[in-house]
Amino acid sequence: MYMLKVCQCCDAIIGELDEHALANANDVEIRGNVAYSLCNSCMKDLAREHTHNYFQ
Ligand SMILES: [Zn+2]
Repeated sequence: MYMLKVCQCCDAIIGELDEHALANANDVEIRGNVAYSLCNSCMKDLAREHTHNYFQ
C-alpha cells in the first residue's frame, strides 16, 4: 500500500510512502489515505519564522 506524502502548507506532493516508511515516519500526519508533512521550502520558512519571532 502506497500513500501520497503531501506538504500540509503548500500542498506540494513530496513523494510516496510505503508501509515500511510510514512505520518509521514520525513527522507525518495521516488523514484518509494521504500523509501530510512539510516540504523542504516550507520547513525552511517555518524555521525562519520561529527564529524571527524568537528574537523579537
Ligand atoms: Zn510546502
